[in-house]
Amino acid sequence: MNYTRETFLIANWKMHKTVEEGRAFARELVRRLENVSPKHQLIICPTALSLWAVGQELATSPVMLGAQNLDLGREGALTGALSGYLIREAGARWVIVGHSERRNLFGETDALIGQKVAQAFEAHLRPILCVGESLDDYRSGQTFAVITRQIEAIFPYTNSEVLKSLVVAYEPVWAIGSGEVPEPKQANEVAGLIRQILSKQISDDANTVPVLYGGSVSSNNIHQFLEQAHIDGSLVGGASLQVDEFLKMADIGH
Ligand code: PGA
Repeated sequence: MNYTRETFLIANWKMHKTVEEGRAFARELVRRLENVSPKHQLIICPTALSLWAVGQELATSPVMLGAQNLDLGREGALTGALSGYLIREAGARWVIVGHSERRNLFGETDALIGQKVAQAFEAHLRPILCVGESLDDYRSGQTFAVITRQIEAIFPYTNSEVLKSLVVAYEPVWAIGSGEVPEPKQANEVAGLIRQILSKQISDDANTVPVLYGGSVSSNNIHQFLEQAHIDGSLVGGASLQVDEFLKMADIGH
């Protein structure tokens, strides 16, 4: 049976671009997309500081807005924190959860990430859950075990109804920002595994959950990943910072 799945190109700007630079990118993107129907759903995830301003520029376009992280809680005495409700209020409909930089540089655990996925759903944001193995895990053949652990960690916090609207990004840690990529077939196999793990919770509905590939994707290699049966798009860091390159990846450029 063939399942129809949404496809995505998601820009993760990380800690790049001032508010003005973000606005200029968004304005240019909107202009270049006039009279074009993008092949994929396009999402821009700027810094938290630029969410509102970039969202205002994107408001009249089909391009959607996402945050790169959220904190637990709704509001309260939580200095420096940013809740899903505030993110939604700023115009975002998406949020990246569990990026490996959050896991490794900010000490986010599997359990915390599970809770953040649940919080995102509660705040009516769709989470883009990132999973991926380290170089050591990869070399020691632990990829499947690590991915299974990272996906199963969200099950105690989510119900099957919300899980259906999850998006998962498979991002091998060793491929992020390194210029190295896995064999597209290998990435495809992991994407298939992700859907198989999800099917334990949501049965056949797992077949409609989009699974993306991320890690050193650019306009030179994106097609190899997009042509894989289990891969439904890409989460892109470095190569998403230039409008031309972003549009090339979206297959709209020249
Ligand atoms: P990269 O980052 O495209 O710069 O490798 C991807 C990511 O971290 O989401």
